[in-house]
Amino acid sequence: MATPQSILRSVFGYSEFRSLQEPVITNLLAQRDTLVIMPTGGGKSLCYQVPALLFDGLTVVVSPLIALMQDQVRQLHAQGVKAATLNSMVMRDDYDAIVGQVVRNELDLLYLAPETLFTDRILTLLGQQKVSCLAIDEAHCISSWGHDFRPEYRRLVEVRQRFPNAVCVALTATATPRVREDIQTQLGFSQGATFVASFDRPNLMLDVQPKQSSTRQVTQFLAQHKDQAGIIYCFSRAQVDTLAKTLQDQGYAALPYHAGLTDDVRRTNQERFIRDDVQIMVATVAFGMGINKPDIRWVIHHDLPKNIESYYQQVGRAGRDGLPATCVLLFSYSDSAKQRHFISQKPDPHEQQVAEAQLRQLLRFAESGDCRRKPLLAYLGETYDADNCGQCDNCTGTKPKEDVTVAAQKFLSCVYRTGQRFGAGYVIDVLLGSKQQKVLQNQHDQLSTYGIGKDYARNQWQHLANQFQQQGLLERNEFGGIALTDKAMQVLKSGLKVEARMDIAPAAKQAKGIDMNYDEDLFQDLRQYRKQIADGLKVPPYVIFSDKSLAEMATLYPQSEAGLLSINGVGQKKLESFGADFIQRIRDYCEPRNLADKTTARQQRQASAPAHSPQKKRFEVVGEAFKNGQTLPELVAEYQIKESTAIGYLVKYLQAGGDYPLAMVETLCTLPEVIQQVVFDAFDVEGSERLGPIFQALNSEVSYEDLHRLRLIYVCRQMDSLSTRNVP
Ligand code: ADP
Ligand code: ZN
Repeated sequence: MATPQSILRSVFGYSEFRSLQEPVITNLLAQRDTLVIMPTGGGKSLCYQVPALLFDGLTVVVSPLIALMQDQVRQLHAQGVKAATLNSMVMRDDYDAIVGQVVRNELDLLYLAPETLFTDRILTLLGQQKVSCLAIDEAHCISSWGHDFRPEYRRLVEVRQRFPNAVCVALTATATPRVREDIQTQLGFSQGATFVASFDRPNLMLDVQPKQSSTRQVTQFLAQHKDQAGIIYCFSRAQVDTLAKTLQDQGYAALPYHAGLTDDVRRTNQERFIRDDVQIMVATVAFGMGINKPDIRWVIHHDLPKNIESYYQQVGRAGRDGLPATCVLLFSYSDSAKQRHFISQKPDPHEQQVAEAQLRQLLRFAESGDCRRKPLLAYLGETYDADNCGQCDNCTGTKPKEDVTVAAQKFLSCVYRTGQRFGAGYVIDVLLGSKQQKVLQNQHDQLSTYGIGKDYARNQWQHLANQFQQQGLLERNEFGGIALTDKAMQVLKSGLKVEARMDIAPAAKQAKGIDMNYDEDLFQDLRQYRKQIADGLKVPPYVIFSDKSLAEMATLYPQSEAGLLSINGVGQKKLESFGADFIQRIRDYCEPRNLADKTTARQQRQASAPAHSPQKKRFEVVGEAFKNGQTLPELVAEYQIKESTAIGYLVKYLQAGGDYPLAMVETLCTLPEVIQQVVFDAFDVEGSERLGPIFQALNSEVSYEDLHRLRLIYVCRQMDSLSTRNVP
């Protein structure tokens, strides 16, 4: 019998529900009306798509965004789901055909624009069918308190009464409590049936930079984010046109978008962006509503947004697929003065007051020296109380010079061990544990410095390397490589202190786009291949497979049907449609390189695990996988979690009585023994539960990544000594 879990896996290709999806689905299957509040990218669609495949009757989805509905239907078709949309853009013949499908009860999901739903023809049609579920997307449109009130949405209340047997789910990404309450009251939902997800988007790197010469700042950023899609938001249409032109002149594939362009131009530009023909959209706020593109990797605010809400909404368009994305706000006081001027021109004094208050909030955000997530989430009614989010400029890019002796030692020792024959780029490859052929051929994956530099991103290492060179630690040698100076030897041998500025966001980590360490060459190859297929089918590339799925393929090298099916985002239908081609492509890549399929362990686990196994806690699953020999990076890739989360699970596993040999964890930290001991001493004093105080006590000298790893070693030692003591 089909269950939500089995549908999630076989149709959508995902192994686990996200936090609130499961309770929402359970609620709907129990016929309880439900309000779902989740941020953009939170996974609202699955909340009604999964039940739609379990109900006998039709699920009607109402949404005001036509482009978005069409996009969803395209994606559902690729997943083999019987869905269709009716709206003003649908041609007569198609319209009749879809009506026919509804009459014959051939559809699971029907997406309707509200104005289409309210036509007599559709109301009569639906009156003759079994409607099991009414899903109201963008439900904030029903509230006059919301930013996007649509009076016609009010009529949904009446439609809902026409289908008393249909369960109703309303979904929105609106965070304001007033709008939430209004939706509930309007639709007559009971209090208990509201599910609110956290609005934090942990994968978004939030960066505020002083605006100096903005065009240069933008092009520098673009140079670090080649081949990635992103949006540059500007204040005015004229600015959009100018910046787009400048970028085009410099050879960037950028297109403009604003309300002053004709419908045709806007539509074409948007479509070309969605299809990955161009990567850069320069736009006013007019762009973005109804954009479903999951793999937008960055958003730049060239100018100050109007308020926090618009900022949050606009940056929220990045990284819907859950992979890292970078958001940069270029901030200048003259921009805020400009905004003030506009506000002072507003005729209505009340409006002026509101706008001023909003601007003040935004400035508090932009000027804050504290974690950016605090003011942002406070605005959305949440408290953010982690010590360090690790994903904003204030938490990562400490602006004054800092002690980077440990990083310098890693870098210099890697220069030494690779024979002082290579450039900085290659040394960084080795530090980051790259699987590039050149590294493997030179057997530099065997070096002790291989992969020990993952606490910094590529561009941060580059930034450091430049500074090392300026400080006289490195010199060019006759082979064009870099070599160590006497001063560098002092750093290595006697711990001479090195300081540098780390005022740079980890862009390359974003460039890699993902926490796992995937094979860049294969990833790019698969992306190209996906684009080719997508163009042939005239669909956006992400309809075929998401970047996340491709990255997983480039990590685990699946070379069989079962292997491919174990990749997140690969369901039965996609396997049938594209499986053979992708498997061939991966084999072609792997065979000459002798790369084995690494999905076997995962396949076995999926085969042996019952389709529905919520009993086993996540930390147990991860802990056991580790015990069975999976490495930390493999766990990160497999369970799509941060390394720190994985370590948290491993610690919990130990604390809950699980065990694995100490030797398995002791190799995790490559810091010198003395430093490790300092950290262990600090754990003895401060406890190992909270790392923030330890991080500070050690003057930020040991990265959070190392602290997490050391904590695991520490706990493992404690457990180990306990158990040996207990042996009679
Ligand atoms: P929203 O409508 O809330 O903005 P979507 O429904 O478009 O978000 O989902 C965002 C992305 O997350 C999509 O690419 C979707 O396929 C993916 N997603 C949703 N649920 C899951 C899940 N349980 N596991 C993995 N990915 C998921
Ligand atoms: Zn932060």
